[in-house]
Amino acid sequence: MTYCIGKCKNYKAQKPSRIGRYAAGQKRCNYCEIFVDYEGITCPCCNRQLRCLPRSRKGKERYLEQIISWLDLVLSAYLWGHGTSDSMTIPDDIQDFVEKQINLMISQTEAYLPFIKVAFPYSKNLADACYNLIVGSAVSIFVNQYAMRLKYPSAEDFSEFGKITVKYRDQIDKFFK
Ligand SMILES: [Zn+2]
Ligand SMILES: [Zn+2]
Repeated sequence: MTYCIGKCKNYKAQKPSRIGRYAAGQKRCNYCEIFVDYEGITCPCCNRQLRCLPRSRKGKERYLEQIISWLDLVLSAYLWGHGTSDSMTIPDDIQDFVEKQINLMISQTEAYLPFIKVAFPYSKNLADACYNLIVGSAVSIFVNQYAMRLKYPSAEDFSEFGKITVKYRDQIDKFFK
């Protein structure tokens, strides 16, 4: 199919109010002249390739600015993250992925522990440093998992993410006692 059969209307994306269309993960079909909310890389209507990034330099700069300020939001949301909502809002597969990553980092920390203790004998805040490192890595995995699904985590998702990471705090503290 190489012409517009009107199927694209089913995927028509609403204009986001506070962020650009591309930054919100929408894609554009230049042939159908429409922005769509669609997972694939080709138009569900005319089958041509969808555009995922702005074309103009200005547009690209704005896109980057929005992504960066959004990441900023991610980090600050994470910092006050633990404890507003009780319901689980993060999709199970993303939670699995994040927890696997944290467990992997913790087991690595455990393996390097003899080295860390010898190399930094006077540091009092090793537990903090390790925890920050592990959570930092988990944040990027978390955000990436959503980005791969062309979605953005909600405030509840971040709060839930905070709860997941806090669970591991004790485990890391124990290493340094
Ligand atoms: Zn179309
Ligand atoms: Zn199209």
